[in-house]
Amino acid sequence: MDTDKHRYANVLNPSASEHPQPLTLLTEDEAILRDSVRQFAEARVRPLVREMDEHAKIPRSLVDHLFDLGVMGIEIPETYGGSGGTFFHAVLAVEELSRVDPSIGVLVDVQNTLVINALLRWGSDDVKRRYLPKMAASTVGAYALSEAGSGSDAFALTTRAREATDADGSHYLLTGRKLWITNGNEADLFMVFATVNPEAGYKGITAFLVERGFPGFTVGKKEDKLGIRASSTCELILEDCRVPGANVLGDVGKGYKVAIETLNEGRIGIGAQMIGLARGALDQSIKYTKERKQFGKPIAEFQAVQHQLARAAVDVEAARLTVYNAARLRDAGRPFLTEAAICKLFSSEVAERVSSLAVNLFGGNGFVKEYPVEKLFRDAKIGQIYEGTSNLQLQTIAKQIIG
Ligand SMILES: Cc1cc2nc3c(=O)[nH]c(=O)nc-3n(C[C@H](O)[C@H](O)[C@H](O)COP(=O)(O)OP(=O)(O)OC[C@H]3O[C@@H](n4cnc5c(N)ncnc54)[C@H](O)[C@@H]3O)c2cc1C
Repeated sequence: MDTDKHRYANVLNPSASEHPQPLTLLTEDEAILRDSVRQFAEARVRPLVREMDEHAKIPRSLVDHLFDLGVMGIEIPETYGGSGGTFFHAVLAVEELSRVDPSIGVLVDVQNTLVINALLRWGSDDVKRRYLPKMAASTVGAYALSEAGSGSDAFALTTRAREATDADGSHYLLTGRKLWITNGNEADLFMVFATVNPEAGYKGITAFLVERGFPGFTVGKKEDKLGIRASSTCELILEDCRVPGANVLGDVGKGYKVAIETLNEGRIGIGAQMIGLARGALDQSIKYTKERKQFGKPIAEFQAVQHQLARAAVDVEAARLTVYNAARLRDAGRPFLTEAAICKLFSSEVAERVSSLAVNLFGGNGFVKEYPVEKLFRDAKIGQIYEGTSNLQLQTIAKQIIG
């Protein structure tokens, strides 16, 4: 496979999104991106899936291939070395990667829909110049909001940022612990949320860009998980970690806005991960039921099985429409808060349903690691937990529709 750096840059044409697209009809550049990422996922990711799950690790060589493919800097403008694509392109890439391995899907998702997205939106010119070229080339990003005592109630965080000045200028000293941080193992740049004033409540929260090498920063314990095992989930420890004043992202005391608005978009990415996973489970189920014979014929010839597959196909298609709709709204600069919550909630339920059906349709083979669907079933569960649990999505939707 050709791995020339950013070889899709010339096919990613943001102007395409200025014209409304029917939801599932892709523009030429979107279709090229989808097909290229699908090919990559089959050729480069598929052979590693079981080993990555067993060892709970993504090899750095695969991360490097993702950079070469151009999918680690999809929305970064070409002037900074990125692919110059749209949010919708990122959604397609996450979907296709997650169809083969949702752990790779979430690595690319956090990079694009959370970290790069926030840098593009809130970064000063100086921040963009310093970090975007690196993020397009080789630097993995992580998004650190959650703590042991603050999950759904994210703004109850206690990581403290104290302003200080010395001969080297104004800086902040960050102290606290972050929990559950995706890409903790691979990342060199961490978006860390801390409070400059605990008395001010959410109005003290500020976003900081912390490099792995900053003094006082360490990556702690890596979690041993049920699903998306290859994706690293780590604790971060900050002990008087010195962060230059120039590394505040957005305004001091406005980090809550950065967090909320970035997560609203990130949820669409999780929707994409979940529809990719569900499609992977459905594709595997169709293939298997056409091959597996019982009572003298392929089990796909039994109407009961056909109807189950048909229902799963309806689920996947409906979920995909919610994800694509939210992504298209976002690219069009239209409100998408409710649509993002709907797509995340529904896609994660569909992923659980369809991967569970896949286990059933594989029979005993669905229950063992030699076949791919038990992993997809384990991987599906996280969709209802991270970037806002299903209860929190329902709360958002209810608030929007009831007022
Ligand atoms: C694999 C993994 C990766 C993650 N990656 C990241 C990351 O990269 N960055 C990051 O910052 N965080 C990350 N997280 C953290 C994740 O976002 C939180 O786990 C999630 O928001 C839920 O928080 P919690 O675990 O504290 O659960 P809690 O908030 O304690 O929730 C427990 C239960 O209570 C329910 N609940 C809580 N409040 C309400 C309410 N008001 N109404 C109704 N029900 C409620 C919840 O729905 C849930 O069912 C990750 C977590 C996991 C497991």
